Amino acid sequence: MPRIDCRYCGKELEYKSVRDLPYFPFCSERCKLIDLGLWIEEKHRIEEPLTPEREKELGGEGTGTKDRGL
Ligand SMILES: [Zn+2]
Repeated sequence: MPRIDCRYCGKELEYKSVRDLPYFPFCSERCKLIDLGLWIEEKHRIEEPLTPEREKELGGEGTGTKDRGL
């Protein structure tokens, strides 16, 4: 079976077809919304200076599970 990693949290997903993953390429609606939300937020924050911490957050894709408790 093909597998992907959730683009947000990195959780491994097995699927027979993309139809099995309504939130592809995310594992859940939660991850999808968070990811899109962050992206939109980033657009709004574009004029703010990029702090090292923020930069790490942006580059921190695929580093495994991270739960923001949202
Ligand atoms: Zn996920």
